[in-house]
Amino acid sequence: MTTETAVRTLKFFVNGSWDESPGRSLHPITNPASGEVIAQVPYAASDDVDRAARAAHAAFLRWRDVPVVDRVQVLYRYKALLDRHSDEIAGILSMENGKPLDDARGSVRRAIQMVEVACGMPSLMIGQSLDNVSKGIDCQTIRQPLGVCAGISPFNFPAMVPMWMFPFAIACGNSFILKPSEKVPLTPTRTAELLQEAGVPPGVFNLVHGDKAAVDSLLKHPLVKAISFVGSSPVAKYVYETAAAQGKRVQSLGGAKNHLVVMPDANLEKSVEAIMSSAFGAAGERCLAGSVLVAVGDVADPLLDLLLRKTREMRVGDGSRPDTDMGPLVTADHRQRVVGYIEKGVAEGAKPLCDGRDAAYGDGFFVGPTIFDHVRPDMTIAREEIFGPVLSVIRVKSLDDAIGLVNSSRFGNTTSIFTSDGRSAREYAERIEVGMVGVNIGVAAPMAFFPFCGWKDSFFGDLHAHGRDAISFYTEQKVIMTRWF
Ligand code: NAD
Repeated sequence: MTTETAVRTLKFFVNGSWDESPGRSLHPITNPASGEVIAQVPYAASDDVDRAARAAHAAFLRWRDVPVVDRVQVLYRYKALLDRHSDEIAGILSMENGKPLDDARGSVRRAIQMVEVACGMPSLMIGQSLDNVSKGIDCQTIRQPLGVCAGISPFNFPAMVPMWMFPFAIACGNSFILKPSEKVPLTPTRTAELLQEAGVPPGVFNLVHGDKAAVDSLLKHPLVKAISFVGSSPVAKYVYETAAAQGKRVQSLGGAKNHLVVMPDANLEKSVEAIMSSAFGAAGERCLAGSVLVAVGDVADPLLDLLLRKTREMRVGDGSRPDTDMGPLVTADHRQRVVGYIEKGVAEGAKPLCDGRDAAYGDGFFVGPTIFDHVRPDMTIAREEIFGPVLSVIRVKSLDDAIGLVNSSRFGNTTSIFTSDGRSAREYAERIEVGMVGVNIGVAAPMAFFPFCGWKDSFFGDLHAHGRDAISFYTEQKVIMTRWF
């Protein structure tokens, strides 16, 4: 049996080498399906962050002068290595995060697509020009990198979310410091090893592990020019305010409470399939997870009959087994938090149709799929992000009521409508105050070449993640006017 002392100790990657970081406090990483300790991770102190920032700054001064066509060669090689190692990365991801292997593979594929898009940087960075804006005067805009950029990422997508950031940042000519979630540091370690193998120059990409102390050092470091954050809303707001007060450029993506609206004319079979994957896929640990099911008119009873029947067939277990539909939650603490929400739902009078606390799935941090009926909009489970496999059903009379309910949420990450009527779908997409909208789609995740577009308390900043926004975020625009005598 593995013991805590025998497990691998992770390292920081700074200035092109893996740092032993002796003397740093070490924290155990567990396999959530078994509770077994699989690694230990050091937490960075402010001097570690300072060392990374200085190395990144020195590297930036060289890297910005490397032609963009040469910079993206590193990313072409990286993409090939990621493809070759994608199953291995998915295996590590599933082991430390708990999500089923197929789901992990899908998220690695999404990560690789970010690199593919960033490989197009020579075209994406092109500016504009117009000659003779005044007699004999030409005008052009160019895009230049910012300097040292930093990324802080959450536990639920340890390959994909960091790649919303650094492939774009370094292709634009910046250097980068990644501080991934301290709960899942193995996946970003492996993907950093592959970036090193792809030939990223020393200091252009750096990896430090840690918690709030490491984040605070990044937010306040004078050499860090831009912060990309993804995580829960209270931390996203704190990061946005703290970094902006230091004069940094910030994009800060927060949490969510996503509504799935089902109209009476919806295709029930297909809708239920999409609803289950949205609510219970990745054990609900997705910022795009459906969390409130809004049943319009008389659809509620037939919808819930089918949903309940299918939900009871779900296989919960170790994500590394091929027959698993849903894995454990990421940590024992997070499991406790989700159980707390289920208890609150019961206490506030919602009716549990199936209760994920009931079943025993082994030693890991499991909660089974949970569905509450007759939830009122003022209940805690209807308002707060749970980030677990808990679906709250609210019954409303009309599309108008559904739109009013969704728009009253303080979050605005994603929502979907299920209907066979184009007019309802169009009206919903038009009037809804949410950044990412699905029509008959359970998880409306934008592809790498579109922006990831949360609104309200799901996002703090102006320029969203990936897509063309990423190029605007990671560059400064300059206008040059020229006249030759
Ligand atoms: P989290 O906010 O706890 O942690 C995110 C990052 O912030 C981690 O790297 C962590 O070390 C750091 N952090 C935590 N507390 C901090 C503090 N007080 N001060 C400074 N830094 C701190 O989030 P999580 O639990 O890792 O991830 C789940 C959350 O992320 C959910 O709310 C989910 O909706 C959200 N999320 C959002 C998106 C999106 O695109 N909007 C995508 C994925 C996840």
